[in-house]
Amino acid sequence: MKILVASDIAEEGISKLRNEFEVDVRKGISKEEILSIIDCYDGVIVRSKPSITEEIIQKGKNLKVVARAGVGLDNVDVNCCQGFGVKVVNSPQASSDSVAELAFGLMLAVSRNIARADKLTREKRWEKKSLIGHELNGKILGIVGFGRIGRNVGKIAKACGMSLIAYDPYLTNEQIKGGGAEPFSLEELIERSDVITLHVPLIESTRNMISDKEFEMMKSNAIIINTSRGGIIDEEALYRALTRGKILGAGLDVFEEEPPLNSKLLECDNVVLTQHIGASTYEAQKRAGIIIAEEVIKALKC
Ligand code: NAD
Repeated sequence: MKILVASDIAEEGISKLRNEFEVDVRKGISKEEILSIIDCYDGVIVRSKPSITEEIIQKGKNLKVVARAGVGLDNVDVNCCQGFGVKVVNSPQASSDSVAELAFGLMLAVSRNIARADKLTREKRWEKKSLIGHELNGKILGIVGFGRIGRNVGKIAKACGMSLIAYDPYLTNEQIKGGGAEPFSLEELIERSDVITLHVPLIESTRNMISDKEFEMMKSNAIIINTSRGGIIDEEALYRALTRGKILGAGLDVFEEEPPLNSKLLECDNVVLTQHIGASTYEAQKRAGIIIAEEVIKALKC
């Protein structure tokens, strides 16, 4: 069988595939090129690009599996794959530790003014009095979405002396307690938390789930962290909350529009911004390559 690897996948994953199949690595391949060769392949592997569209799936007469290394299937027409009996696999677990570590890093950066202190020091401005921060030890962390990443953030936070509360309507109270957190409604979590961290998918029920009303309910020293997806926090409302002193600060890895070139949040001092780098570690990339290779082998051999 033949596999087309259409994105940059870790070498360890490619070697695993080569033990089983004929593998062509064509990272950066255009849609037109994929269309012209896809009928020769039994499987195709992509990352967040290129897209595997209905047109490609229809042309892929021998296609049995479409694999997305990493999380999210936004670039794969899953319905069409199902219609044509093509399996779809991904490797969402590969980056959970990396994203959790970044979320915790953002908490520290915001609570201890790390990014602002760095900037002032480079500007040769020694302004220690303006850089007094807050400890995380002893504070309440509210985790919204208690899945893979939410739980991992909880483990790190617990080791740092934080207590955990969580909101996840798809889990039972026992499941949340089993992960070391106390279950609460979203409203109660928002009111009680010192730090709120978001780990939910972007779906209709989570779009703008944190907006003006929710910011009004937060503690005045609250910090909010979003490493999940842009669009879950209403950015206009966040800007109002940050500039009117409704909350202490925010840490964001994801934005409604990426890159956030026109975002008013770039003007705010009390927000730490990163570039959707939650999964961008060597370890996560390697894991994603290995897991996706195993998934493809399983899909084609079972
Ligand atoms: P997961 O599926 O393991 O966990 C998500 C949890 O959210 C589930 O437990 C689910 O029950 C819960 N949930 C769903 N709808 C909810 C709602 N309305 N309210 C509260 N909880 C709800 O997913 P994960 O692997 O933990 O990923 C979480 C998020 O992180 C996803 O949005 C993913 O896209 C994002 N992510 C970001 C990066 C990055 O680079 N920043 C990398 C990987 C994943």
